[in-house]
Amino acid sequence: MSELRYDGRVAVVTGAGHGLGRQHALELAARGAKVVVNDLGGDRTGSGASSGPAQQVVDEIVKNGGEAVANPDNVATVEGAEAIVRTALDAFGKVDIVVNNAGILRDKSFKNMTPEEFDAVIAVHLRGSFLVSSAAWSHLRDQGFGRIVNTSSPAGLFGNFGQANYATAKMGLVGFTKTLAHEGAKYGIKANAIAPVAWTRMTEDLLPADFAGALGVDRVTPLVAYLAHEDNQASGEVYTVGGGRIARIIVAEGPGWVQKDGFDVEDVAANWEQINAQDPFTVPGNVGDQMLPLIQALQ
Ligand code: NAD
Repeated sequence: MSELRYDGRVAVVTGAGHGLGRQHALELAARGAKVVVNDLGGDRTGSGASSGPAQQVVDEIVKNGGEAVANPDNVATVEGAEAIVRTALDAFGKVDIVVNNAGILRDKSFKNMTPEEFDAVIAVHLRGSFLVSSAAWSHLRDQGFGRIVNTSSPAGLFGNFGQANYATAKMGLVGFTKTLAHEGAKYGIKANAIAPVAWTRMTEDLLPADFAGALGVDRVTPLVAYLAHEDNQASGEVYTVGGGRIARIIVAEGPGWVQKDGFDVEDVAANWEQINAQDPFTVPGNVGDQMLPLIQALQ
């Protein structure tokens, strides 16, 4: 297979000063993309700020012969998100690829989670992905091409103790991604999400130390790069990726139980097994698809 290249493409990668985002930026740049390396430069909880991490990644890209510019703005503010996209326009004249990757953790059991801890995590992951995509959207639409890769998480898709804030944001990104896929379809914009697992500062005390090597960030980035490539025709999908494995994650619906003359609570109890049946399942592509079995049953 011929090498997949990004010559002539401009990519924005948020949170690219460390971990996964850094690897995404290095890889896209090594394959010819011009890259905006965004990073606020705070700690794992989002406290503090520094232009150092983004600049270090830019220096590395330039040393390797690539093109990149640093941006230290906050994805969670309107001004920050607009400045990130403006950095791409000013330096490279356009934007083609948006990788929403920036993230923080404020883990706490639900009993102890404060509204501030909830809001802070939603702001970076969910609002930040919205704001940066929003700032880029009209440019992607006008040029009839765009690739957006959002960063979800298995913790959001399946739930995880101590992460009500993070899981809410990460599952929210699934609905966000699917909606952008619908709205971007006629403008050549493909939006997808990844649910990665990798050894980074975010996870180094959560994952078994033995797995550090096997869970390298380089085992996530190839999927992100593929989803960002013009060859990729998938849109509205979510893929789990890490440690050398990639799998599509689906939002599926079971066959259900229908009683079109109405039912009472005892009927629900009596039919609980069929209501919970998983086979045969369907994977609706949109809300219309999801309504079809009901409409057919009512006809
Ligand atoms: P990381 O901490 O190494 O990287 C996150 C980066 O985002 C940091 O460089 C940080 O400075 C930056 N950042 C944080 N807030 C920002 C803001 N407001 N504006 C701009 N930049 C900001 O962690 P990572 O593991 O590389 O995480 C990258 C993404 O992958 C995150 O969205 C994370 O939730 C997601 N994720 C990671 C894993 C994993 O196993 N590592 C699993 C699931 C999801």
